[in-house]
Amino acid sequence: MTKALIIGGGIGGLTAAMALRRAGIEPVVHEAYEQPDDYAGLFLNTASNGLDALRAIDVDIARRGDGFPIPRMIMWSGTGKRLGEVANGTTLPDGTVSVCVRRGEMQKVLRAEAHARGIAIEYGKRLDTYDATPTGVTARFTDGTEATGDLLIGADGIHSRTRRLLDPDGPRPRFTGLLSVGGYSHDSSLAPTTDTQHFVFGKRAFFGYLVREGGEVYWFANLHRPQEPSRQELDAMTPGWWQRHLTDLFADDMPVIGRILGNLAGEVGAYPVHDIPTSPVWHSGPIALIGDAVHATSPSAGQGASMAIEDAIVLAKCLRDAPDVATAYTTYERLRRPRVEKVVAYSKTLSNSKTAGPVARVFRDLMMPVALRLFANPKSHAWMYDHHIDWNQRAAA
Ligand SMILES: Cc1cc2nc3c(=O)[nH]c(=O)nc-3n(C[C@H](O)[C@H](O)[C@H](O)COP(=O)(O)OP(=O)(O)OC[C@H]3O[C@@H](n4cnc5c(N)ncnc54)[C@H](O)[C@@H]3O)c2cc1C
Repeated sequence: MTKALIIGGGIGGLTAAMALRRAGIEPVVHEAYEQPDDYAGLFLNTASNGLDALRAIDVDIARRGDGFPIPRMIMWSGTGKRLGEVANGTTLPDGTVSVCVRRGEMQKVLRAEAHARGIAIEYGKRLDTYDATPTGVTARFTDGTEATGDLLIGADGIHSRTRRLLDPDGPRPRFTGLLSVGGYSHDSSLAPTTDTQHFVFGKRAFFGYLVREGGEVYWFANLHRPQEPSRQELDAMTPGWWQRHLTDLFADDMPVIGRILGNLAGEVGAYPVHDIPTSPVWHSGPIALIGDAVHATSPSAGQGASMAIEDAIVLAKCLRDAPDVATAYTTYERLRRPRVEKVVAYSKTLSNSKTAGPVARVFRDLMMPVALRLFANPKSHAWMYDHHIDWNQRAAA
């Protein structure tokens, strides 16, 4: 049986493992972390197209992942003017809609599904280098061990070591000029935002939030930063510092933001936002890249996880149906490249609209209601959300 070494046990890697198994290939996941981290990161908008793609391998994140359904997004100006409403994905035939789910929870469900299918996940295996030959590949890990397989799938995220080895001159992640800060808050006097996530184009920064039953709030802010802050700088900022800084930043905006920031619960995460608009090399010999490793998108479109999931399913179908690995990888790239590059570009335009100077802000608040009515209807986003992958249909070579 063909054996695939999967590098990275994140969303794309775990999905790829299950899809490859279904395609008759034996996967082993190699994850750099020493152990699973069910509390990693904050939360993800998991769009209906990503949920639909997971159904191809019988994984149901919407029902199992303690997600909060968010089929619609309401946009506000900082002054409290309702700018409009946008559908967040489509409704799947069984009524499932896009959900916001904690990243750790999503990882937990994917890992449990992989375990239930007997898939091996090895922790503490950080890829250092690999040797590829016409008959296979040997991966070497920083702990001194190695593993051998027929294929190697790089699902090791935006700072992918696999990408660096595959294409040393390939793209570096591009800083988008945004810093994403987020966390949780609790205020039982806030009404649940049933089916809705709210977005506020504030005077100085952008704010997003939803309120679950009982007053648990998931919130994030996007701040403009001309220079990328270092990890050390960000690590030095305490939740108390963020609370003061963000409260000042949103002082002139809708009062609900101040209430949310006044009741922070737990850690505050801060992440410089990067993307990778295009990568020239997607595969070579027995190696292929999926997810953020080959086309990271900024979070504004809420599609990064869904793109990694779709890649994983399509790649497995191609390996199942093509006469050889080279044809499978070429078909995979042909099927995926245009779609993911369009999503990355679209997400970047959304990111750009989040921070505007005083003049642009007035113009934006005037024009956005019209623009949302004209361009943000379900039809205009059908290309992104209505994408369906039929597992039983042959991947067209
Ligand atoms: C602040 C922020 C908010 C976001 N919000 C959303 C959102 O709302 N919706 C959405 O869809 N997407 C969102 N994204 C994007 C989303 O997180 C990614 O697109 C998605 O996680 C990509 O999945 P992946 O499997 O390709 O990579 P990852 O999820 O990054 O997984 C990569 C895995 O590889 C492992 N790894 C790394 N290097 C090595 C190595 N050398 N050897 C072995 N293992 C290695 C890592 O430890 C990790 O487990 C957001 C991203 C950020 C930064």
